[in-house]
Amino acid sequence: MKLDEPVIIVHGGAGNIPDNRDQPKFDGMLAAIRRAHAVYKNTSSIMDACQAAVECMEDDEAFNAGRGSVLNLKGEIEMEALIMEGENMKAGSITGVRNIAHPIALARKVMEHTPHVFLMGSSANEFATKMNFKYVSEEDLMTDAAKVALDNFINKGGAPTTTEIGQGGVGTVGAIGMDVNGHMISCTSTGGITGKMAGRVGDTPIPGAGGYCDNTVGTVSTTGHGDSIMRFCLAQRIMTNLDQDVEPDSAVQMECDKLSIRVGGSAGAIAINREGVIGIGFSSPKMGWAYLKGGIIHYGIKKGQHLTIEL
Ligand code: ASP
Repeated sequence: MKLDEPVIIVHGGAGNIPDNRDQPKFDGMLAAIRRAHAVYKNTSSIMDACQAAVECMEDDEAFNAGRGSVLNLKGEIEMEALIMEGENMKAGSITGVRNIAHPIALARKVMEHTPHVFLMGSSANEFATKMNFKYVSEEDLMTDAAKVALDNFINKGGAPTTTEIGQGGVGTVGAIGMDVNGHMISCTSTGGITGKMAGRVGDTPIPGAGGYCDNTVGTVSTTGHGDSIMRFCLAQRIMTNLDQDVEPDSAVQMECDKLSIRVGGSAGAIAINREGVIGIGFSSPKMGWAYLKGGIIHYGIKKGQHLTIEL
């Protein structure tokens, strides 16, 4: 597969996003697309470009990843991320990680510098230290919005059964891409859901749930209620549709809708098929997304919304 230009698409989380959070999310996603474009121009690496897009959103407190991550029931930040590449289907994944700015960068180190796919908790942090990651204090990662969201959650006696975005208005981030030669990548990073139990693992770091990538089929990154997404194997189901040449928009929307009917919860996803065609869909009220085509950034967050702006 040869393309004229790379395909890069990002999401900024699915859920019941309050309207006053739309603009910060748009700003963050546009910045992420611009960063990814600049990195691709310099390196021709779709992996570097997608990682850069995710790191950009991990730095931005409009999103639930890196700084801005939501809090568990103990008021702590435990982060998760997954990266997967489509040529050899290698993957790197981390969960329960604390005190680093860029979980997606650590997931990539797992993929490239260990014989394993998935590292957890304090051992993943020890590996980060070995890989010379800078320690970041929990205060630096923790935002007022995340604290208020946990307070609201506890005071309302809520259970983390829907998406996290209802509490705090932030959102998991993802970036997927395909270079001009058809090489694909999937990156996803999250703080999980507000009020999760300490030690809870979500869908995000699990290949087949939070993301998947195979150059012969396509690439996917998901978001939404992780405990539902992993029971439904959402990313893998979307991949099966792509493999059967179902049009990507329909594949994504259909599987998100099926998830909501079959296991409850809501979800969204972005996908690219082996022809480089993009798919976007969500069963949640909203999901932020953005992609670049022919020098124009396309983006939206509400159902049916499609805005454009010059790169
Ligand atoms: N899927 C994430 C989780 O449940 C949350 C999200 O996508 O916003 O951990």
